Amino acid sequence: MAYQVLARKWRPKNFSEMAGQTHVLQTLIHALENQRLHHAYLFTGTRGVGKTTVARILARCLNCEKGITATPCGQCDACREISEGRFIDLIEVDAASRTKVEDTRELLENVQYAPARGRFKVYLIDEVHMLSSHSFNALLKTLEEPPAHVKFLLATTDPQKLPVTVLSRCLQFHLKNLSPAQIVAYLQSVLIAEQIEFDEEALWQLARAAAGSMRDALTLLDQAISFGAGKVESVSVASLLGTPDFTLIFLLIEALASRNGQELVRLLGLAAENNPDYQRLLEHMLSVFYRMTLAHVLPDAVDNSEGDRERVLALAARLSPEDVQLYYQICLQALQELVISPNRKISFDMGLLRMLAFSPDIFMSGQLNGDQKKKPELISLVEATASVETPKPVEVPKSVEAPIPVEIPGSVEPPKPVETSKFVETPKPVETPDAMAKIEAIRPVESETFDWYSLVSKCNLTGISGNILWNCVPAAITADNYQLTLDEQQSALFSADHAAIIGAALSDYLRREIRVEITIGQVLSETPATRRRREKAEAMQALHKRFYEDHGVMALVAGFDATIDQESFTVKI
Ligand SMILES: [Zn+2]
Repeated sequence: MAYQVLARKWRPKNFSEMAGQTHVLQTLIHALENQRLHHAYLFTGTRGVGKTTVARILARCLNCEKGITATPCGQCDACREISEGRFIDLIEVDAASRTKVEDTRELLENVQYAPARGRFKVYLIDEVHMLSSHSFNALLKTLEEPPAHVKFLLATTDPQKLPVTVLSRCLQFHLKNLSPAQIVAYLQSVLIAEQIEFDEEALWQLARAAAGSMRDALTLLDQAISFGAGKVESVSVASLLGTPDFTLIFLLIEALASRNGQELVRLLGLAAENNPDYQRLLEHMLSVFYRMTLAHVLPDAVDNSEGDRERVLALAARLSPEDVQLYYQICLQALQELVISPNRKISFDMGLLRMLAFSPDIFMSGQLNGDQKKKPELISLVEATASVETPKPVEVPKSVEAPIPVEIPGSVEPPKPVETSKFVETPKPVETPDAMAKIEAIRPVESETFDWYSLVSKCNLTGISGNILWNCVPAAITADNYQLTLDEQQSALFSADHAAIIGAALSDYLRREIRVEITIGQVLSETPATRRRREKAEAMQALHKRFYEDHGVMALVAGFDATIDQESFTVKI
């Protein structure tokens, strides 16, 4: 059997088979059941919404041999001949086709003759606004004094081009564009009957592309079936239509919701393979964020016009309103950047990476990355206290040509000092040697303002002597005599010379003669060396914390599956 295009094969033969247009059908059914018939009907609406289909069904209703009915039998000669397009008393005129315009006048001039076989002589004039003025005159004449056996079924996409005299003599019905949901439901019933495999998203794509026209939808479905080798799947349909696969949008937002940077990047790569229309993707994403916000505010207001209601509600439940607002803003910004960007993919990817990086609760959730193996590692990094000196950049995969510079926080907030030494807390460091000398002269060792640590730091003594000095604590200090205790655990390299070198260094710095005596012993308070280690560790900890809370850094980690070289952290104390 020859293949019959779906639009023809599945053209409804009864009102009950029609998708949508219930407002029109109800009125017609009511009129037919009550035998309250008009002599001229005008069906308006955009192409493919069912104008001529309704008219043909109405022709059957009027001519069914079982009697005028809203449910023609479909079995009688009249019913069958009408559906096969060969019923002698159904005169179809396509006013849009030029060749027939001349014939129209002739046809209309024969209107006074009785129907050959049917109850009514039915004139179905499609695109009636295209009639020539001669034809309109003939039509108008008939409409003014219609013979009882004649019915006019007029259809037009452009009723405003009809003369008012014609309009006023017709019962007018406006057929609405079909909603995507109505189209999807219809396509679904067709495919099930045809036993053709499909996924629902593909049907939504077709429905969106059909823009309200069932005929277009069925024509596209025909193409999709042959394009997809007998299957109707969203990937091939997206390719056929040249539209982005909007399922991708949901997958991307789902990856954001689960803070899964790896998955996000995988999807971005997948999207790029099809060289998609990034603008349309972002526009669609905006509409999804809008619908998610609607879901937060008023869930009932989220309709299924896009076939994604359940998905929108499910996603909305996983993200906070703040997140969605932020994503919407970032998405809008990405859309603006797309226009000026030399690389649309980068703009698109940046938008998504920003969404991931700027999620307010990215750390609160404890899910930094979909790669769960990273989690404990990151935590242990934050807890790490070892100070490491080797500076290295953040490792970014080689494939990334221009890594976004990472601004590692330069200043680290001073950690709250742990009170292990009476020398630690210093309201104001003594800045000049003179001032320090004065203070030293009048203050005993226990003075809280005597800043041993600061003095040792500023003395700038290196080598073994420096090391010795850093491991000493003051035992008794006078203006010109410093008695120090060297930490016995650090005394291996100590010799008497060191005391002289240290004395010279202190004298040099304080610009007066200082005599230094060093005794080895147990040190109970914090030496400058231990204090420096402690502060460094605390600063490192703070640095880690800030580094891992830096959105730019996290965008890199998530976006490029970068690993952070913990050895690269450096702090200067
Ligand atoms: Zn019949």
